[in-house]
Amino acid sequence: MKQPENRHRARKRFGQNFLHDQHIISHIVRSISPKESDNIVEIGPGKGAITALLLDACSRLNVVELDRDLIPILLQQFGHLEGFNINQADALKFDFATLGSIENPLRIVGNLPYNISTPLIFHLLSYSTLVRDMHFMLQKEVVLRMAAQAGDNNYGRLSIMTQYRCAVEHLFDVGPECFDPRPKVDSAIVRLTPYEKPPFPASDEKLLDSVVRTAFSQRRKTLRNTLKPLLTHEELIQLDIDPGLRPENLSLETYVSIANYLDKKAA
Ligand code: SAH
Repeated sequence: MKQPENRHRARKRFGQNFLHDQHIISHIVRSISPKESDNIVEIGPGKGAITALLLDACSRLNVVELDRDLIPILLQQFGHLEGFNINQADALKFDFATLGSIENPLRIVGNLPYNISTPLIFHLLSYSTLVRDMHFMLQKEVVLRMAAQAGDNNYGRLSIMTQYRCAVEHLFDVGPECFDPRPKVDSAIVRLTPYEKPPFPASDEKLLDSVVRTAFSQRRKTLRNTLKPLLTHEELIQLDIDPGLRPENLSLETYVSIANYLDKKAA
């Protein structure tokens, strides 16, 4: 009998690169280390490569999958399991608060569609108080950006806003040969663990994001120029910031101090 799985063609617009390397799949699941009572949600289960191993360990699992054609394939494999629940939805718009709570925080997992990974991560960061941890397969370059420190070439808005909320661990790299079809880029697994309280709290987080956006709108220019709409030369000096530096030279802590200064000034 022909399995429905064989009839599904990978779709580029859904960022579909299915994992087929069993060694890598178990390495990923070992890093997640799922426990029976965990509240796990998998984004983009696809044909169930990671899902199957998660369900070996956990009695319940939520998945969020956009591609309708994958639903019968998932149901055929896991539909008989009582704790398995499919949310056919766009993860970018999905309200993750419906699945997790402070008492029962989510563990989010996914080999994410690379074309939407940055907006999806910003969407998920907004739920960080309801999240215990997140394990993602991403384009390696995105993981490098998330984990970058001030002064690195890859350092930018994604590094700052991720590290504001989470500890970031670049766990290991995954080559294109582990997927079908093969992506053109290298991939990596990252673990994000939200802090109970941000180490450098901003009094207005939206303002922090907007300061960081403004600073990095022209990464090659000096802070004197990029921050001109927000701060005078004197204010930069007062905040102990060298106006001749570039946006990539300032730490998360310094960006928070700028945002908190502006918030106070506006009050
Ligand atoms: N986890 C599977 C599939 C990864 S491919 C594996 O590792 O083999 C990415 C998956 O994300 C696909 O199943 C794709 O259909 C799904 N997807 C793409 N865009 C999505 C979105 N906006 N919301 C939820 N799922 C999405």
